[in-house]
Parts: sequence; C-alpha cells; structure tokens
Amino acid sequence: MFYTADEKEIKQGKVTDVYFLRTKEILKQKNIKKKVVVEFVVKSFPAGCEWGVFSGLEEMLEILGGLNINAWAIPEGSFFGVCEPVLVIEGNYEDFGVFETALLGLCCQASGIATKATRCKIASSGKPVFSFGARRIHPAIAPMVERSAYLGGCDGISCLRSAEVLNLTPVGTIPHALILIMGDTVSAAEAFNEVIDKSVNRIVLIDTFCDEKFEAINVAQALGENLFAVRLDTPYSRRGDFKKILEEVRWELDLRGFKDVKIIVSGGLDEHKISEFNAYADAYGVGTSISNAPVLDFAMDIVEIDGVPIAKRGKLSGRKILLRCPKCFKRKTVPFEEKEIICSCGVEMENILKPLIENGEVLNDLPHVDTIREYVLKQAEYFKELV
Ligand SMILES: [Zn+2]
Repeated sequence: MFYTADEKEIKQGKVTDVYFLRTKEILKQKNIKKKVVVEFVVKSFPAGCEWGVFSGLEEMLEILGGLNINAWAIPEGSFFGVCEPVLVIEGNYEDFGVFETALLGLCCQASGIATKATRCKIASSGKPVFSFGARRIHPAIAPMVERSAYLGGCDGISCLRSAEVLNLTPVGTIPHALILIMGDTVSAAEAFNEVIDKSVNRIVLIDTFCDEKFEAINVAQALGENLFAVRLDTPYSRRGDFKKILEEVRWELDLRGFKDVKIIVSGGLDEHKISEFNAYADAYGVGTSISNAPVLDFAMDIVEIDGVPIAKRGKLSGRKILLRCPKCFKRKTVPFEEKEIICSCGVEMENILKPLIENGEVLNDLPHVDTIREYVLKQAEYFKELV
C-alpha cells in the first residue's frame, strides 16, 4: 500500500489533528454554536524572504466548496506579506473547524513551492527555469508540486503525470543512464537525434565521462545545427569553480561557430546559485530547492466570534480586508470598514479579498494555471529584490 490519504478521506475531514474532533464533541455536548470569522495568515517567512506567492486555493476549494460557509480569498498567484489575510472564512465553527489541518496543509506546501519557483525565476532574469524535482517527493503529490512550481513561474515540468494533469508538454531529454549504457556521449547524442521526434530539442548532458569543455565540442561537432543545448549536471565534488567551467564551455563553443548552442545547468540549484551562474547559463533545471521548498507557515486564526472582534495573544482581532494598489502592487491590511486608501503612488487601492463562497455556493470558476502563472510573472516585475 501507499501511505496516502485519498480524496474522499480528506473531504470527510479524516486528515485532521484529533484535538479538532475533541473540540467538536465538547461544543456539541455543551450545545454551543458560535459563528466565527477566521483568517489564514503567515506570521513570518523562511529566512531571507519577505513575501510569498499564494498557491493551493484550487485544492482548498475541493474542501471548502462542500461546506456551509461564506469565504473570501485573494486570487491564487497573488504576492502577499506577513499577517496579510489570504483567505477569510465565516461560518459556524463546528461546520469547518475539523478541516483546519487539511486546509493549512494544502496552502502551506503549495505556497512554499510557488514562492521558491518565483524566486528562482526572478534570479534567472527571465531565462527558462524547469522543474525537475518530482523524484524528491512522494509520487502521489507530484502533480500538486509541479502545478505550484509552474504556477510560480517555472517554464516547464519534467514529470509525465503532472504534465497530463496540467495539460502541458513534459520537458526532458536523455539521462546519464543512456550515455552510460551506450558507452559514450557522442553515440548517445547521435542515437537521441536519430530516434526521438524532431519536436524535442536536442539537449545533451556533457558531464558523464569527460571534461565538459571537450564533450561540448564533441557533441556540437557531431550534431551540428541539430544540437539545441548542452547540459551541465556536473556533480558538486567535481565542480571546482563552476562559473569558470561555464565560461570555458561558452568560449569554446563560440570559437567554433556554435554560438546558438545553449548552456543548461542543473543539480543543486536555488535562487542564489542561479544568480551566480546567470552570466553564462541560458536555462536551469531545478529540483530539490523548489519541490522541497520550505513550507509557508500559515495559521488559521479566529478573529471574530458572533460579530465581536477577538484574537489570541500576538494576533490582530477583527475582520480585515487586504488592499492592493493596482499600479505598483503595494499592499495594506486594514479593518473591514475602512475602504478608501490612496497608495503612496497616488492610485486608489482595491480590496483583493474577493468573494469565493456565498452560503455554501462557489461563486466563480478559478483561472487556468497558465493565467495564474502570467499573473505571478507580472507581479514579479515589481518584486525583483529577492528579499
Ligand atoms: Zn501604488
């Protein structure tokens, strides 16, 4: 068996911390029914990070859509900051309290992955970043992980099932295994060129047997204009001054007339490494740092009970809205009643906590993942500093 919970069990509220069930039981026995307002906020981001990209809403709606509640959410793919509400739910606590565990799990992980993907994409200054991390996570959640990676700005994903779910074409070429089995890089490259459909870019790994510089020249000469790119997945133990290796490969290819052959880098990359290599690399394959990105620690906090503002220590009570400037994307969290705020750039801010569910009815269709990705990249223009 796989150690996973299925959709039915999640929607039944079985993936919950047992203390929520105890709460439900006590409230029932004591006949206490209270209408509460809760908000989903992050109190602090992983080190070095001052914003997050909200992801996971579509799956959260699988749970929320069946509940007797009202809900408001910021659009999936929105940038947000500390203590800014991304989702607000109003309803009787006993109707949705047990889903806190699953709802948080859905947005904490997805948003962590999307945020990391956006940071990598910003670091690459728009050069392609591909998600190669399916092998670092439980296979059952690969489609979720790669959806968030793509939504966050990755240009492609490598896993077949994830691509099917998202209606994308998976990206990838040939692994080291083929080169090892065929005995040398050039033979493997030639076989790849001969066998695989022409629509697949000819990208060849050049770090299997020999020095990257000589292998790059060898495959470029063998494949000629069919060669799209060389890929360096050079292990860390051999990297030395990796930037220097990249510079050398670029130089030798250019000198021999292979200026159009691109250089793709993979292996242990994150936004910092991407910044470092960006002068010489044309694209990146990123695995672990995106697929296993630190989660964003959302909390689901009660801020109002039966119309009265209340919150635990350290949290701001009362229902709020999240205003954002449509021009420069600056945001401000304000009390629910306060609506007209002018941004420092002179434009009136708008509430981006939009109605999501009214009396248990889901109000709108959610946008396609491609639309969300474009929305993320548009905002990223204004958040080029990685902090
Ligand atoms: Zn503004």
